Amino acid sequence: MNFCSACGQPVIFKIPEGDNRPRYVCDHCQTIHYQNPRAITLTLPIAPDGRILLCKRNIEPQKNYWTLPGGFMENDESTLQGALRETWEEARVKADTGELFAVISVPKWHQVHLFYRIQMPDFSFAATEESSEVKLFNETEIPWSSLAFKTVECALKHYLELPKAGFSVLNTSLSG
Ligand SMILES: [Zn+2]
Repeated sequence: MNFCSACGQPVIFKIPEGDNRPRYVCDHCQTIHYQNPRAITLTLPIAPDGRILLCKRNIEPQKNYWTLPGGFMENDESTLQGALRETWEEARVKADTGELFAVISVPKWHQVHLFYRIQMPDFSFAATEESSEVKLFNETEIPWSSLAFKTVECALKHYLELPKAGFSVLNTSLSG
């Protein structure tokens, strides 16, 4: 950040009084521009036959790599609503509810990824502008070497271990 979004004057990077870490501060209008992690909400859609839905990304970053549907949460929605919205936008899968099963922090990217597993009501899904291909995979078919993000790999592994280990929410942190 170079300029204050409130008044347009240059900002400086300094520790505000009473704080303990540097922030972008505007000495003109006194605004402190806090920057905090962003929430990414995703789903792991499960088809009626147990297969897992993955999307091939049609956008950068990681274009042409496979991912679970998801994206940045919007201001007017819950994490679950965000996850379900993104799943519709990216894969045309409609679901009403989901179950949180993984929370993965990525400090380096200033992000936290929240994964919900959802039951697809039927086999309806489709490619979209954001996903060049949408496909169902058996456990043995998952393209591990072509996954877009480490968090997706981590969440998929946790999901596949659930039947053996019993249901639990993964809460972990990845380096990026
Ligand atoms: Zn300002």
